[in-house]
Amino acid sequence: MTAGGGSPAFKRIERQFNIYAQGESIVNVLVLNASYEMLNVTRWQRAVRLVFSGKAEMLEECGEVRIRSARSSIPMPSVIRMNYYVNKPRLMVPFSRSNVFLRDRCECQYCGAVHKTSELTLDHVTPRAAGGETCWENVVTACRRCNTVKGDRTPEQAGMRLSRKPRIPHVAPSLNHSFRAEWEKYVPYAAPEPAQVS
Ligand SMILES: [Zn+2]
Repeated sequence: MTAGGGSPAFKRIERQFNIYAQGESIVNVLVLNASYEMLNVTRWQRAVRLVFSGKAEMLEECGEVRIRSARSSIPMPSVIRMNYYVNKPRLMVPFSRSNVFLRDRCECQYCGAVHKTSELTLDHVTPRAAGGETCWENVVTACRRCNTVKGDRTPEQAGMRLSRKPRIPHVAPSLNHSFRAEWEKYVPYAAPEPAQVS
């Protein structure tokens, strides 16, 4: 059976479940791409519609919460996955001096010291003189001292070690306001920090 978005069968189902979620009034649903990457967070009404129209499958239910109509009930979705790949460009962070400092948390990538931005410099891992590009993967935050010590050499030549490999950062969606326990195994990087125990 196909129940596309506009078909009478789908309209009927939608009407039937055009109701309320018992237990929780607002439930947000995590939407994953076919590749299991996170796409977005949507309201449960839209998630149910995606599942009913065959565009998505339900991966996790929302505990005991069910969606009820006069005749039946279905589990409330918590995580759904699209049945086809949605092409969505990832949001890129523009390359700039201050964004490199932010990515590196103002930490010198050689000695680990944290400084104010006014006391930091940008270091080309592979020096420009050796063909090193000015890009996310070749530029890191360095303190003045390390930058001077390194000079126009590669870290290997200078006997210095990078604390982490420089990468292109992406804007991570903030989910803190609506994060649900069922989401953790799909987007562990977006889980809110555990509360501080004092
Ligand atoms: Zn340093």
